[in-house]
Amino acid sequence: MPSPRSAGLIAVVTVMTSLAVSAPYGTAAAAPTGTTTTEAAGESAVAGVLDKEPTTLTELRREAQKAYKSIEDANRALVARQKKFGAVEKELATKLESLQQATAELNKLRKPLSDLASSMYQDPSLDGISPFFRAGSGTETLRRIADLDHIVAGRNNVLGDAVKLLERQQQLAQEAQELRAASLLQEAQLSAQVTVLRKRSTALVRSLTKALIKLGVKIGDGTQGAGGCDPTRISQAEQYPNGLLPKNILCPLPQAGEELRADAAIAFADLNIAYKKRFGTSMCISDSYRSLSEQQSIYYRRPGFAATPGKSNHGLGLAVDLCGGVQNFRSVQFNWLEANSKRYGWMHPDWAYHSPFEPWHWEYDPKLGSQL
Ligand SMILES: [Zn+2]
Repeated sequence: MPSPRSAGLIAVVTVMTSLAVSAPYGTAAAAPTGTTTTEAAGESAVAGVLDKEPTTLTELRREAQKAYKSIEDANRALVARQKKFGAVEKELATKLESLQQATAELNKLRKPLSDLASSMYQDPSLDGISPFFRAGSGTETLRRIADLDHIVAGRNNVLGDAVKLLERQQQLAQEAQELRAASLLQEAQLSAQVTVLRKRSTALVRSLTKALIKLGVKIGDGTQGAGGCDPTRISQAEQYPNGLLPKNILCPLPQAGEELRADAAIAFADLNIAYKKRFGTSMCISDSYRSLSEQQSIYYRRPGFAATPGKSNHGLGLAVDLCGGVQNFRSVQFNWLEANSKRYGWMHPDWAYHSPFEPWHWEYDPKLGSQL
């Protein structure tokens, strides 16, 4: 007897079955504990940072940058995890909701079915006698008995379904709770990692500042952070146009009044240590970072001699003009620098050998430097 009620029951059971079949939460609950590639990269970077203590300024610079990059990676992983967790939790909420709807539907079905079953037992047309014992039973009675069996079976099914739904609901609620707990734990672990990395990065930049100050570089009073000598700000420097780098992005050189971008300045300090060992004096600097207005002033005073304003590597804080002998092509100082500067990320660009011929002009190559 395909009544609207039994159709409703079929619908409920169908919903329930599809829920049971599609239930992916055995795996989804475990998903946040798995590592994505971003996380794995972040974690290996952490291990890399803590490998060994740096000895040169360039190593300190690299380690500080590495620690900083790991912070960024960890933060990215954290955001990705939160996003993933949010999506999974939303899906769980949707499933719980549809389960609750199914349960409500079942509860609605349960009562009329029970009522119907009891009324069949008490049907006055059956003379108050249980149909199973009624004498002289005709086809009518047989039909009623069949109906009654069907209704009893239906009620039992409904009860069984309700129990299953309840179990599924409890299971989903537990999965949601476990997912939340796992996610919170992982967030706490990640943020602890970020704290360690941040401390490490700060300590490295501080060591770097101390080492630079020891070399005679005048970086503020040394108590308010590294200022422009913080190599983790290099990416910030790249956002500013040529010749318009803000003061706090420039790091002073040992020679007073001269400054470069942090990575170039740090590499220059290391190069200068080697130069001093060889020649007994520091490198002589006649020019370093050049603001746009300085570039314009030189360009108009000596047209064709300096680079077009806004195009010079001096404006990026990556070039110096040297004196003290280096300015003379093939001098002993020039030759030494030509042979040794690349180990520190510095080089004499090809163009400076001929057009225009500028033996004094040397540049820091961030690509070369980043491989050191
Ligand atoms: Zn130059």
